[in-house]
Amino acid sequence: MRDDKEFEYILNKAVQSHTLDEKEILYLLETKNNKQLFEQADKTRKKYVGDEVHLRALIEFSNYCRQNCVYCGLRRDNSQLTRYRIEPNDIIELAKKTKNYGYKTIVLQSGEDPYYTVEKITKIISEIKYLDIALTLSIGEKTFKEYKAYRDAGADRYLLRIETTDEFLYNKLDPAMSLKNRMQCIEDIKQLGYEVGSGIIAGLPGQTLKSIARDIAYLKSIPVDMAGIGPFIYHPNTPAENIKGNFFELSLKVMAVLRLLMPDINIPATTAMETLNPQGRLIALQSGANVVMPNATETIYRKYYEIYPGKICLGDSPAHCRFCIENKIQSINRYISKGKGFHIRQN
Ligand code: SF4
Repeated sequence: MRDDKEFEYILNKAVQSHTLDEKEILYLLETKNNKQLFEQADKTRKKYVGDEVHLRALIEFSNYCRQNCVYCGLRRDNSQLTRYRIEPNDIIELAKKTKNYGYKTIVLQSGEDPYYTVEKITKIISEIKYLDIALTLSIGEKTFKEYKAYRDAGADRYLLRIETTDEFLYNKLDPAMSLKNRMQCIEDIKQLGYEVGSGIIAGLPGQTLKSIARDIAYLKSIPVDMAGIGPFIYHPNTPAENIKGNFFELSLKVMAVLRLLMPDINIPATTAMETLNPQGRLIALQSGANVVMPNATETIYRKYYEIYPGKICLGDSPAHCRFCIENKIQSINRYISKGKGFHIRQN
């Protein structure tokens, strides 16, 4: 009884004030009252960002990566993976096709691939910006100077997940990288006027709910404009620990708490969620999310962009994905936004 009262108190506080301390965030993560949590996150989403869903077309243009993150299928030491790169002119052509499918935002994503020099990336950005489309980069850690060059060339948003703010865990899972530098990168991105996208992986081996509560507090402290939560999915060609468990529900909870604490930000229903649950993206859209990132990468490359196994839509074409997602969104009485979907601060 007392627990129910405490839950009600904390949930109401989150709904009314959008502020919780780490202990209260942890309480919501530990709750079994998932249904109520998801309903309140959905109501908050409706109140602040409405029923429109923003589509961000994802172009995965290179699966080379100089980093070696323990859990990631693109890691440098995964010799089982067939590597590919799409040439800058072909990326630009693909972006033109993508715009014709009706997308208002393109996300260019890759591993950390030094082949794409500042000159190459800035050329790609400038050409894509001629299309009058919002552009997000998700290409990893760069220097301030590089981030500035991309911003000056016209990039609107930058997506860099913090993954985890637990330093011990971070050092274990991202060898040769540093949490301090990652946080600095996020600071730099913010300072340069990008819309900042970040997020975490939920369910990492060795991660605790307490550490996730700290992650959530960190994302709010930035504050991010977009937060994406990916459930941990074990990849057999990595040295990650094969922990048992499906982290779909945990990811939903993290996402719902983020919506309550940052009611007006953009939150994607992630592809990884649908990998773990056939209705994953629709459930997420009804539990706080307002963004979907359909795959616009050409079919021949998709199976090689294997951060985790079992990814959905591998055999589908960009046109099919666009059509399919529209139908899904309409099936839950939501509609696709006609705008570029920038974050509009409301509190
Ligand atoms: S998580 Fe990112 S940086 Fe790390 S290996 Fe994978 S693609 Fe590279």
